[in-house]
Amino acid sequence: GKPGWRERLRGSGFSRGLGGLFSRNPKLDDDLLDEIETALITADVGVTATTGLVEHLRKRMKAREFADARALLAALRAELVALLEPVAKPLVIDTATRPFVILTVGVNGVGKTTTIGKLARRYKDEGHGLMLAAGDTFRAAAVAQLQAWGERNGVAVVAQGQNADAASVAFDALQAAKARGVDVLIADTAGRLHTQQGLMAELGKIKRVLGKLDPTAPHEVLMVIDGTTGQNALSQLRQFHAAAGVTGLVVTKLDGSAKGGVVFALAREFGIPIRYAGIGERPEDLRVFDAEAFVDALLP
Ligand code: GDP
Repeated sequence: GKPGWRERLRGSGFSRGLGGLFSRNPKLDDDLLDEIETALITADVGVTATTGLVEHLRKRMKAREFADARALLAALRAELVALLEPVAKPLVIDTATRPFVILTVGVNGVGKTTTIGKLARRYKDEGHGLMLAAGDTFRAAAVAQLQAWGERNGVAVVAQGQNADAASVAFDALQAAKARGVDVLIADTAGRLHTQQGLMAELGKIKRVLGKLDPTAPHEVLMVIDGTTGQNALSQLRQFHAAAGVTGLVVTKLDGSAKGGVVFALAREFGIPIRYAGIGERPEDLRVFDAEAFVDALLP
């Protein structure tokens, strides 16, 4: 496997459920499939995705495709990877588009602010000129957090006073970024407002306002999802996708999560690219999502 993934994801629910299977050399029978089914459901892979996988393996087993349990487990691995491969599409910063505008969305607490910091550092290290927009005007601490991060790391942060109009912040930021020839603008947004409807309306407004300055902006609507929230992640994505047209995902906190299987459910239901995975709190723990590395880290 790729360095780091296995070490960081060790002990996640998926490997817990399947771990025993690999160590005790099981028989190739329906009990084995039942055990796999339970492990996948427990890890929040979701009933539909799990049933699809298990029934396909059962058919192949009945057709005598597998010499032993080990061969079936190898097929499981391959099918898990195949589920994720179509969504493992990294975010490519189009350098011809200046600035390349990334709008980050997601509910409070999922790791949105820290993800913005990690991405900003990554893009800066890659040589891109960067600017941040403190668009979570609902939460005073979010603006301060982003400004402090910008000062520490020498990245310009566009902010207005508390309770400023988030769309106005986004508009100002894009105008400033254009004027200064910035390569990448990352805009934060609120993760909570007084009402859910208000939040969704605000996201729509931010997108419209950005589009006035650049009809192709935002170039990425990046939703940050907490990998520990399991099936809840699906309903969150459904809502944000309807309101803002999500084009990429970051799934955080996969380290030590018993619910990381939700990544498979997300892939199956939405097919939206998973750009990055959070496998720890250090900056280098925000990884470009890699289907094989992820599956291999989950399997014993
Ligand atoms: P926000 O409310 O969405 O902006 O959330 P924050 O960015 O403030 O993050 C909430 C907490 O989650 C912080 O303590 C982060 O360090 C933590 N966090 C973010 N990503 C990860 C991750 O991939 N793994 C772990 N273990 N913690 C994370």
